[in-house]
Amino acid sequence: MKIGVIVAAAGSGQRMGAEGNKVLLPLHGKPMLQYSLECFHSLEEIVDLVVVSREADLELVKDLAEKACPGRVVQVVPGGAERQESVYKGLKALPPDTDWAIIHDGARPFLTQDMVRRGLAAAREYGAVALAVPVKDTIKQVREGVIVDTPPRQELWAAQTPQIFRYELILRAHEQAREQGTSATDDCALVEALGHPVYVAQGDYGNVKITTPDDLPGSAVGAVGFGYDVHRLVPGRKLILGGVEIPFDRGLLGHSDADVLTHAVMDALLGAMGEGDIGELFPDTDPRYAGISSLVLLSQVRGLMQKRSFAVANLDAVILAQQPKLSPWKEAIRARLASELGVSESRINIKASTTEGLGFVGREEGIAVQAVVMLRSGQC
Ligand code: MG
Repeated sequence: MKIGVIVAAAGSGQRMGAEGNKVLLPLHGKPMLQYSLECFHSLEEIVDLVVVSREADLELVKDLAEKACPGRVVQVVPGGAERQESVYKGLKALPPDTDWAIIHDGARPFLTQDMVRRGLAAAREYGAVALAVPVKDTIKQVREGVIVDTPPRQELWAAQTPQIFRYELILRAHEQAREQGTSATDDCALVEALGHPVYVAQGDYGNVKITTPDDLPGSAVGAVGFGYDVHRLVPGRKLILGGVEIPFDRGLLGHSDADVLTHAVMDALLGAMGEGDIGELFPDTDPRYAGISSLVLLSQVRGLMQKRSFAVANLDAVILAQQPKLSPWKEAIRARLASELGVSESRINIKASTTEGLGFVGREEGIAVQAVVMLRSGQC
């Protein structure tokens, strides 16, 4: 069984706003294309590896292929004007005795061995297979701004790559499309046009195609912010942390409810947005804020975030308190802050620590909180 791979890497990256080829943009320190090449290289059943590149990038891609696939001969061939033309050139570069062709988009860097093997197993059974995932959104067919159809969601799958075919079948499909002058956005569609069934194998929601800068993990992050606050512990006050009242014989002193955690969180959020601090926004000389729940202030900060199109990517806070023991309350605090910030609890982390009896915290004179937040662009 001779298995050949074609990695399509000839896109121009216009939607990425990239100067050069988007598959050469760095992702966690490596060019995006390198990830799928390394994955295919690690599969010993793969014999031939062809990368289709833009003419201008041929040398760069050759160097990259050498690095990603040490000891393996990787053919790097120039692509065409359209993806379909590029894949055809890749197919022609494979030896004629190839049994199976795996076609993959270089802009899908999160490929795993498992996905390829799942696809290959299904291809051996059916002859033509695409990795795909069931669509989660309801898909609308729209013409001139008006919905004309809502296809049943249970029948809709989003096609990914790799797509795997018997070599002679995919070559025939491409040749027929060339003769008829038809084009399609993926290779399956050309095989479908031959009247040959194409099966789906379970893809992975993580196997995303990087099309716009927002798709690049980490690049959608807007900003980080840090917050720190301290309040004095006194008798006769409630102890409120993250909007949750904690039973204790003392509470925190302050103009508002003295929720030291929410204050540190707000300062982190404001810091990330470059909006100063809570002292400027809610001065403690203003009688409107006397005894106010800090969650009310937090909702104002959230309003500011929404106006600026920021959402919480994640929030991490550590509460420094010698007493009381806070571990039984951490989950409730986390849930409360998540709901106030309109994000899932998985984005919030709350820690509690003593200071081993040292300093003002250790002497139980006060409670301190440090919070760090990462905001990303997008609605919250
Ligand atoms: Mg404060």
